[in-house]
Amino acid sequence: MKVPFLNFHQSHRALKAELLQAMEETLDAGQFILGDRVDRFEKAYAGMMGADSAVGVNSGTSALHLCLKCCGIEAGDEVITTPFTFAASSWGIAYEKAVPVFADIDPVSFNLDPAAAEAAITPATRAILVVHLFGQPAPMDDFVALARKYDLKLIEDCAQAHLARYKGRSVGLLGDCGAFSFYPTKNLGGLGEAGLFVSRHEPMTHRARSLRNHAMQEPYTYSEVGYNYRMEGFNGALLGVKLKYLEDWTRRRQAIAQRYLQEIRLQGLQLPVFQPEAPSVWHQFSVRYPEKERLVIHLKDNGIATGSFYPIPLHLQPAFSSLGHDEGDFPQAERVCNEVVNLPIYPEMSEEQVDYVIENLNAFRNKGSNAKC
Ligand SMILES: *Cc1c(COP(=O)(O)O)cnc(C)c1O
Repeated sequence: MKVPFLNFHQSHRALKAELLQAMEETLDAGQFILGDRVDRFEKAYAGMMGADSAVGVNSGTSALHLCLKCCGIEAGDEVITTPFTFAASSWGIAYEKAVPVFADIDPVSFNLDPAAAEAAITPATRAILVVHLFGQPAPMDDFVALARKYDLKLIEDCAQAHLARYKGRSVGLLGDCGAFSFYPTKNLGGLGEAGLFVSRHEPMTHRARSLRNHAMQEPYTYSEVGYNYRMEGFNGALLGVKLKYLEDWTRRRQAIAQRYLQEIRLQGLQLPVFQPEAPSVWHQFSVRYPEKERLVIHLKDNGIATGSFYPIPLHLQPAFSSLGHDEGDFPQAERVCNEVVNLPIYPEMSEEQVDYVIENLNAFRNKGSNAKC
């Protein structure tokens, strides 16, 4: 049996008629940039989150940049964030010539550790940027308390956490503003580049809506330096089709994760911990294993693809070398980079494929202990 790491083709084949119809309607309407379909998608997505409105943009990276702008982050400001994430989490900070100040992660949830974040606060700190990594909401009560105590802005990178809730409230609406990505491999994947900005503060939403469209509020009058971060009409239409299935797809991810959590038994392998108050939407199912290479090869030899997100933490990336970090600065993040294995988890996975992944992991235990004898 083969278990690829992703299989969105299957969903796209199943939805092909609906997707093509949405494209045809967009073509006929001639609304290629923003327009009715983008408006409708924004409203539908905001509605699912319990937000009044949302701002569709051309990528998650753009949405994050708008978060930094709307929080008023300026050159030299410090923004505390996690080194264990996709690099785009920190790009917006760099775009504003602000300083990403990394703090170490929790070794179990892989999210930014609130205690480490608090220890990194200085008089120059203006914001905390949390990432709900792999779909697991970060401990927002702690971060909201920190933001209040030190008068900081709180930004949420929700690129991997569509529909995730923390104590019943949608991620993206817990801090000051949040960013979603619809990169094709995300839990809600567009058929191209797309993202979304959301905020519970209406003035921030208003400013983001302006900034994404050249800051042009009146025709050919620019209130400030703007951007072209607009969502395309085709993407709004296609995302609108796929959004209807997102809840079902998320439930399917959760069912697979439930099976993995209950049935994987491999000595030395650290499973994620289910958090009933903040259930993950399982963008990734990430385990830790000290002999990562051997495990990955074993799975690969048996036709099972895995991921390794992320192999190098941000503080050790050439892009951030000017920060002057060394190996050992954030030991938890570095250790997780060396040990993390992402197992296949996606709504298109069959029950047999899930069985097969579990069997192969549990069989590795015997191999491992035989090798030791
Ligand atoms: C995908 C992703 C982004 C960037 O989104 P794009 O749409 O690719 O620009 C940012 N942060 C995280 C954590 C991501 O996974």
